[in-house]
Amino acid sequence: MSAVFIIGKSIENGQPLHVRDASNGLSCNCICYECEQKLEAVQGKRDWYFRHYNKSACKGNNETALHNYAKLLLCQNTFIQSKKKIINYTNPSLETVTDKYRSDVSVKYNDSILHFEIVVRNKLTSEKINYYKKNKINCIKIDLSSRILLSAEPKDIRDAVIEDKKNKDFIQWNEDENCNWLIACGLFIASLFVLNGLLRGRHKIKK
Ligand SMILES: [Zn+2]
Repeated sequence: MSAVFIIGKSIENGQPLHVRDASNGLSCNCICYECEQKLEAVQGKRDWYFRHYNKSACKGNNETALHNYAKLLLCQNTFIQSKKKIINYTNPSLETVTDKYRSDVSVKYNDSILHFEIVVRNKLTSEKINYYKKNKINCIKIDLSSRILLSAEPKDIRDAVIEDKKNKDFIQWNEDENCNWLIACGLFIASLFVLNGLLRGRHKIKK
């Protein structure tokens, strides 16, 4: 049997399209991520998949397809879950270049830039990790290396990209420092009030 995939590249808009969201047969209007030849959507009673329309030895590129699909999900969404909290963001954009590095998706978060790095097959290099840390640039890694995702339903892929907390790692995160400062300032002001109250209390007693 020739290679089959769950995500093709739409000819219409160049975006990844899951076979569950595609039209049947050639009208899916998709090409292969590897060889860019036409795909057809096979939507049977049990299995749904894409295959090359013409006979081909190409094995496709499921990892690249999933990577692109995840980027699209992040761009269409406005939040992700993480181990710390829900992160609400705006202004997603693809492949922002910072110095010599390119992140998968960058978004606006709390008046600063947050980068998402999606890992399907290629790990993040230590140089890139160090770059984020050294320059204190917020970055979250989303691990999609589980092989199950290469043949998963749209909902399961979305869950992994957006909802799953365990597969998110903070490569660099600045907000906690600000939070600590806010908490410290809050405590300082509160202690001033308490001190003031105590002094006034003493004053009254003296009177
Ligand atoms: Zn191909």
